Amino acid sequence: MYQRFGLTLVVTHDCNLACGYCYAGRKFNRKMADEIADAALRRAVASLNSGGTLELGFFGGEPLLEAALVERVLGLAEELAHRSGLDLSACLTTNGTVRDATAWRVMRHPRMNLALSFDGSLKSTTATGLSVCRTTKISAFALA
Ligand code: SF4
Repeated sequence: MYQRFGLTLVVTHDCNLACGYCYAGRKFNRKMADEIADAALRRAVASLNSGGTLELGFFGGEPLLEAALVERVLGLAEELAHRSGLDLSACLTTNGTVRDATAWRVMRHPRMNLALSFDGSLKSTTATGLSVCRTTKISAFALA
């Protein structure tokens, strides 16, 4: 049993960009199955002592392509954490280009910490010779 447990869910390998330096390699469109996400979450919760902390991460690909899955898992995590007397924090790493209503709810969730990857202007990134994004990454945006 642990006092602190970090669980990172790779909710999709897909991405709406195509950066030439991408760490994820070749993309394929297959979201994490609901039952896999739920089983991993329940396993993490069962590994914690009451009063412990669950650090839940969402990663990809671009995780906000599966914002509905992230939102559902986050809701289940809150329910399980409350029931088991755990602290819960969440983080999500995004390229900042998916901004539909569900994605906004996820990004603005009170427990959510965001890591936003931002490469700069097309001119400056092209100058490195590395960036071949299919879509130019947009400017960083305010969440306030
Ligand atoms: S935004 Fe991230 S995941 Fe998507 S192609 Fe670029 S580096 Fe890869």
